[in-house]
Amino acid sequence: MCVFCKIINKEIPSYTLYENDYVFCFLDISQATKGHTLVVPKKHVQNIFELDEIEAAEIMKATVLVSNILKEKLHVENINLLNNSGVLAGQTVMHFHLHVLPRYGNDEIDFHQVEHEPNFEDLDKLYAILKA
Ligand code: 5GP
Ligand code: ZN
Repeated sequence: MCVFCKIINKEIPSYTLYENDYVFCFLDISQATKGHTLVVPKKHVQNIFELDEIEAAEIMKATVLVSNILKEKLHVENINLLNNSGVLAGQTVMHFHLHVLPRYGNDEIDFHQVEHEPNFEDLDKLYAILKA
């Protein structure tokens, strides 16, 4: 059984902020920023590709709820939502989870992305593949 399934089954303790029939929300053991929370479906699914419609909706509803708890209790006004699906994306626990990451302006998180000039030839080709 994976570590998050054990947490959901309460075999491993966690700091649970919210739970219902579909989702389990708890503090990340390694607080990237103060209030860093994980929103996890109770059903073990590996990644974004395995989520069904109901779980996806419940995850987003719980994420809004958790965000508002962080806003109310920690006065958080800035948040990143992050999911790592797949090893190359940085996933280490193979049970889908959405990171709710409060941002404070003086933290160590850096989502720096290289900016490119728009290449409309490439965009046309890409769009043709996606829409075919
Ligand atoms: P990933 O890199 O897969 O997107 O994120 C996995 C996250 O799970 C990490 O941020 C890590 O700190 C967290 N994590 C791993 N094991 C545990 C645990 O036993 N308890 C809690 N609360 N978080 C964990
Ligand atoms: Zn699991």
